[in-house]
Amino acid sequence: MTTPAATTPLIFVTGGVVSSLGKGITAASLAAILEARGLKVTMMKLDPYINVDPGTMSPFQHGEVYVTDDGAETDLDLGHYERFVNTRLSGKNSITTGKIYDSVIRKERRGDYLGGTVQVIPHITDEIKRRIDEATAGYDVALVEIGGTVGDIESLPFLEAIRQIRTERGPQSAMFMHLTLVPFIAAAGELKTKPTQHSVKELRSIGIQPDVLICRSEQPLPEGERRKIALFTNVPERAVITAIDLDNIYKIPAWLHEQQLDQIVVDQLRLEGKASNEADLSEWEAVVDATQNPVDEVTIAVVGKYIDHQDAYKSVAEALKHGGIRQRTRVKLKWLESQDVERDGAEAALADVDGILVPGGFGDRGFEGKVLSAKHAREQGIPYFGICYGMQAAVVDAARNLAGLEGANSTENDRNNPHPVIGLITEWRTSTGEVERRSEASDLGGTMRLGLQQQRVKPGTLAHKLYGSDVVGERHRHRYEFNNHYRTQLEDVGLVFSAKSMDDTLVEMIEWPTHPWFLACQAHPEFLSTPRGGHPLFIGFIRAARERKAGGKLLSEAAA
Ligand code: GLN
Repeated sequence: MTTPAATTPLIFVTGGVVSSLGKGITAASLAAILEARGLKVTMMKLDPYINVDPGTMSPFQHGEVYVTDDGAETDLDLGHYERFVNTRLSGKNSITTGKIYDSVIRKERRGDYLGGTVQVIPHITDEIKRRIDEATAGYDVALVEIGGTVGDIESLPFLEAIRQIRTERGPQSAMFMHLTLVPFIAAAGELKTKPTQHSVKELRSIGIQPDVLICRSEQPLPEGERRKIALFTNVPERAVITAIDLDNIYKIPAWLHEQQLDQIVVDQLRLEGKASNEADLSEWEAVVDATQNPVDEVTIAVVGKYIDHQDAYKSVAEALKHGGIRQRTRVKLKWLESQDVERDGAEAALADVDGILVPGGFGDRGFEGKVLSAKHAREQGIPYFGICYGMQAAVVDAARNLAGLEGANSTENDRNNPHPVIGLITEWRTSTGEVERRSEASDLGGTMRLGLQQQRVKPGTLAHKLYGSDVVGERHRHRYEFNNHYRTQLEDVGLVFSAKSMDDTLVEMIEWPTHPWFLACQAHPEFLSTPRGGHPLFIGFIRAARERKAGGKLLSEAAA
């Protein structure tokens, strides 16, 4: 290949034995160390499922749908990536089997293959390789994670594509890192290396010899076991790395660096000319230090509907923790099923919390519990942070309980309600100026307001104080909007519209100025929060929760 992209050295990350070994976080942690050595790093996820993107997948099955600046609905691993590295990713960084087949089939229909037989090899594999090049061009190094577990039928075309890349480019331009599990069998009192051996055997049977093994285990591998794994898998001993279960994911970069994983990469991919000798992990050390040595602790209720599935609110949970890190505060999360709030009443369900967060959501199940949570927070002066559906719930509360708009609702939940304070706008202009039409019948994957959009924040509001800026950009993912016909009625009862879209048509944020801290936004600020930087709204929310816990005592801005 002669395209400049072909020169970007690639690290492919695969997983074996079982799923959920934390491949994404491990890959992101390695990326963070490489970045700390001065390299320009990007990351990519290849998912073997047939959905074109995860946008229509249930959070129960697949965890949260993560949204990038360009509005792509991606796998939640992209969230880990963006929290660990400074590079901002886009839809190009997340591809699925569905997306690959979609483009190959389109080309076939257009006649691009000139009547040839279209096959997995080479057409599907070429398309995978083309997309890897497209997403990784211009970086010093890129990590490419392959979803699923080696041995799955579905991931074979991806593995074949990366095998070809290695053969074409050689080991100095493409390396393989494989994550496995080394279980501890309590009955025998032993760590078992056999699953790792089998997993590598499986990889080798399709032509992939790993260069590095990351062995997940409960405890560090004894020398003997490491040697054994190295011997049986043909991986150099120094490249058999152990990854024990750490209580804090932000410790992983330092842990991997201690075992010189970054140096192994720098050596093999010949990055010494570009990489600095030392990894500056001081920012990560500061993050770990703040989480390990908190000076305060708050409890935040998160009222949602997928709470049994922890990954469904991954970015929200992380952003809350980040808000705490910035002020050395441990944030304890109390997950509440919104239907339980309906059943038990807000008073009982939300007792003993320092703040209430209502995150995004879809559909009518549990919506009333969210409205009750917003009402309770408003009446009791408990810090409230509403995100997307959480803002819509707060608007419905204001309409029903203060503006006298009985039966007010979002048309998402009740199409014929008497006061549709939240509704579907059927036509609006996208940030690029195109007119997008939506209707109830529109294709689910294509009718959302998605991605980073600028908004104008009103001076003098809480939102403006927190952001410290007139114009801010946040990522969106929703279909319904505040209905401007009700604006005056809600302003009359004291609701402040603290931000609007740049063209002044869409409400972006609301707040109650007489409340200690009540703010809600239509966008999803959790997608822009990072452990190192935090996010102003989450930082402000956690500070308010601390102030409530301290009996209303105001903390100085600098209070750590
Ligand atoms: N269901 C609401 C909408 O589509 C909110 C979406 C969300 O919270 N992400 O507008």
